[in-house]
Amino acid sequence: MTPLPPGRTIGIIGCGQLGRMLVLAAAQLGYPCHVYGREPLGPAGQVAAHFTEGDYDDAGAIAAFAAACDVVTYEWENLPADPLAALDPDVDLFPGVRPLEVGQSRLAEKTFVAALGGLTAPFAPVRGEGELADAIDSSGVPAIIKSDRMGYDGKGQVRLHSRDDLDGIWQALGGQQALAEGFVDFEAEFSILLVRGRDGAIRFWDAPHNVHEDGILRCSNVPAPESIATHIPAARALARKVATELDYVGVLAIEFFATKEGPVFNEMAPRVHNSGHWTIEGAATSQFENHIRAICGLPLGDTRLIEGGAQMHNLIGEEVGQWRDHLSDSGSHLHLYGKREPRPGRKMGHVTQLLPYAK
Ligand code: AMP
Repeated sequence: MTPLPPGRTIGIIGCGQLGRMLVLAAAQLGYPCHVYGREPLGPAGQVAAHFTEGDYDDAGAIAAFAAACDVVTYEWENLPADPLAALDPDVDLFPGVRPLEVGQSRLAEKTFVAALGGLTAPFAPVRGEGELADAIDSSGVPAIIKSDRMGYDGKGQVRLHSRDDLDGIWQALGGQQALAEGFVDFEAEFSILLVRGRDGAIRFWDAPHNVHEDGILRCSNVPAPESIATHIPAARALARKVATELDYVGVLAIEFFATKEGPVFNEMAPRVHNSGHWTIEGAATSQFENHIRAICGLPLGDTRLIEGGAQMHNLIGEEVGQWRDHLSDSGSHLHLYGKREPRPGRKMGHVTQLLPYAK
């Protein structure tokens, strides 16, 4: 395996903030990025060396884009898999198509993880309105009905408190394949972030404690409290199995619930993740830099926490207007994603603060 030398072109499919932070990390290592997506002036397009505007299901355009790059990655897991599966076998695509296929379907990822021995919420598929009642019998109530695909930031989810509330649920989910998931009585939420190199080496970052509001990540803090720390070895062992089984290359994030029964798998993201943004200032090597290192076949960087800890919070919607206050605080590291419209629920930026070592 020959490392890709600096100066060669990294292709990134997807043009949001994750792509933007990957482009910036690649630039620091001397790699120009070519971004493919629908928004030339989106967060990643604004900083990319090259941009190709195209649809994610345009196999011909994606093949031409990949041929113009030396290695290709993606920053969004809801891409149609077929155009990527059809790429010339000589194209280096990391992580590959299988992690994308598993990570973009809630049913596929839960089934995959359960087969590896991981705990999940009780779940059952809902392929049509007629299956709702049976699925709820399997999952129990209260339950969350989630669309199988295209769900993120709490979108495509309906909470169900009683068996009598079934009316209108199928329509609310847009009539797409879904799953019924039993409600997990958790103490806290956390994620495992790892990077796996082309040679199979794995490094973990400290696991952040994540707080969600209305299904959207609000903040991530490291180190996590003791109630979470006790679950980290088991969660890491499962994440290692997932990465190894998928022959994964790059950064992988897995979200867990900390429960009395142990860590319960919630979902995986085959990409860099919002709960790892603190690593830009809080770890010796950020998730973005290590993703670039991994896909280019370079040695992985140290993932050690620097300082006593880090706290990251998202700037959602109009909160982006607080940028002046964050700049006035010498302990705050402000990241804005260059999005023009601060719509409700839209992630516009984030702020990280480092904590001193405890005396
Ligand atoms: P998700 O999009 O699946 O990550 O869900 C967004 C958030 O909803 C999670 O981070 C949890 O806070 C909550 N949530 C999702 N699934 C469940 C569940 N089965 N039980 C309890 N809370 C859940």
